[in-house]
Amino acid sequence: MDKLILENVYKNYGEVKAVRGVSFSMKDKEFISIVGPSGCGKSSTLRMIAGLEDITSGSILLDSEKINHIRARDRDVALAFESYALYPHLTVAGNLSFPLEVRGFKGEEITEKVNSILSLLDLEAYMNMTPTELSGGEQQRVALGRALIRGASLYLLDEPFSHLDAQQKIDLRTRVLRIQKLNGLSVILVTHDQLEALAMSDRIVVMNEGEIQQFGTPEELYEEPANLFVADFIGEPPMNFIEGILTRTDGGRHRLNCKEIRFPLPKRGGEKLSSYVDRKIIMGVRPQHISLAAKDMPGAFEGVVFSYEYQGEMGYLSLDCSGERVLIELKHATHYETGARLWCLFDDTHLYLFDPDTGERLL
Ligand code: ADP
Ligand code: MG
Repeated sequence: MDKLILENVYKNYGEVKAVRGVSFSMKDKEFISIVGPSGCGKSSTLRMIAGLEDITSGSILLDSEKINHIRARDRDVALAFESYALYPHLTVAGNLSFPLEVRGFKGEEITEKVNSILSLLDLEAYMNMTPTELSGGEQQRVALGRALIRGASLYLLDEPFSHLDAQQKIDLRTRVLRIQKLNGLSVILVTHDQLEALAMSDRIVVMNEGEIQQFGTPEELYEEPANLFVADFIGEPPMNFIEGILTRTDGGRHRLNCKEIRFPLPKRGGEKLSSYVDRKIIMGVRPQHISLAAKDMPGAFEGVVFSYEYQGEMGYLSLDCSGERVLIELKHATHYETGARLWCLFDDTHLYLFDPDTGERLL
């Protein structure tokens, strides 16, 4: 059964069209992320699900019931929003027990649940402090605990890790995932951080300018991006994009001509590419799918070292290839002199091609 369904949901704030026809559904116990750049309509979407914002048009169904006109407090959803402040006069333990008291839980049961969430989120040391005594990151952990402590049909988390440093973020991510899996919670996480979405989600909604660009598993988004936007947004470091003219040899093979470089293209996808011959297209290749090669290898092209970054187990090599900047992730960290000449090769099983005007993926 679907836990939640959004059907053609719109949100306008006066002239601003923040959400434009968003439709997706999630299953019970699923972990869904909504990801996209700042201002793309993620929080507006989540706030409509929570009941904190009116829905301009479309419908939202929770547990098969249309909830458009149900007040926020009557929806069975738990929220951890960035702007959702803690109760300043209550201790951490008090903030956690409050939502349970409101729902009629009593003594023993409250203590048990509060202790359990304090331990799961590593908050025991702070239990008797008030929010003003805590750092931003610690307050966020309490806010998350307050949302997760009570039973709800759906949990909505808007940038719940934004005030944490990198290490705390990874630690809290694993704790939240564990709570979600152990208790079978249905969660929607809003984040601008695609790595966070890839790491945590069963499926991801990628948004841009109020519209869904793609809805799929982390693997689908990474390996089969639907368009140029998703290809650019998902992956770290970002995919390389090279614009060139598509040509066809007498033998029927396609190539991408970019200044002096002729990139051979794979045989697959021939029919769709035919209509692009002699036109501009964009080729995409991830830094992980380029390797250094010998000069005489077929398909190898020359680059000049622009910069090299040491990254521990690996390194990032930035090359200038005929004026195009190409980033390569090298598995073994070896230093490269700026200005040195090298040859490299694309893994042509991992090449993507896009229409430069529509962003549509062609291969
Ligand atoms: P995100 O969470 O993806 O950063 P939001 O949903 O907060 O994006 O905002 C989407 C768009 O709607 C933005 O252009 C933002 O400025 C606008 N917006 C959000 N809330 C309001 C509001 N209360 N009044 C007017 N415009 C708003
Ligand atoms: Mg937001």
